[in-house]
Amino acid sequence: MRRKIIAGNWKMNKTPSEGVNLINELKPLVKDADVEVVVCPTFVCLPAVVEATRGTNIKVGAQNIHWADNGAFTGEISGEMLKEVGVEYVIIGHSERRRYFAETDATINSRLKAALKYGLKPIVCVGELLIERENELTNSVLKRQTTLALKDISSEDMNNIVIAYEPVWAIGTGRTASVEDANDACKFIRSVIASLYNEEIAQNVRIQYGGSVKPSNANELFNTSDIDGGLIGGASLTASDFVGIVKY
Ligand code: PEP
Repeated sequence: MRRKIIAGNWKMNKTPSEGVNLINELKPLVKDADVEVVVCPTFVCLPAVVEATRGTNIKVGAQNIHWADNGAFTGEISGEMLKEVGVEYVIIGHSERRRYFAETDATINSRLKAALKYGLKPIVCVGELLIERENELTNSVLKRQTTLALKDISSEDMNNIVIAYEPVWAIGTGRTASVEDANDACKFIRSVIASLYNEEIAQNVRIQYGGSVKPSNANELFNTSDIDGGLIGGASLTASDFVGIVKY
């Protein structure tokens, strides 16, 4: 039985004090949640947010990780740094990273390996552009992105990896994929994982949906066969919306 996981991607929002305020609002509201709850603030917020979540059921993730252990990579952050701060999860390959920062399937694979090396749990994002969906390329894009992200990743490591299916056209646009399309895409990703590994690993891996999830649509999205929770952008920035999703 896969435990649902709901992760808030704060993107480039919230100062450290604003982040702590949000955690303090969330703490009592999510303390009895059935799902795994994760928040992913900016790097600069991580120490304060890790401290604010100590002793609670809220876990903390970063929004990126570099593949090198250290060195001349201005603006990047290493697994060792994230681990020392107390981070548990890390988002890898978000479509905004692919689009604005030239992230490729190969760099995503390298970042994923670094996360696993440092004992961090990766949330690996895949998803098609609108033009790819319109040209019926969704499955081939998902197959390529999933296969290349997971290149040379062992079966054991698959226990710690979460996949987030995020159709790019649904992120921050208010347009949500239909429940059927979202579930079909997650099911398809699961079938790709079954062909790369085996059916047992595919059935155990958690696959989130992300793209304009709100309290009003979370219930139908998450009550499906293959969607195991959500990666939430805009609606993770206010306690009431995020809690509405966590308690779908
Ligand atoms: C995201 O950034 O991963 C996301 C899904 O954003 P939003 O919920 O705002 O569409």
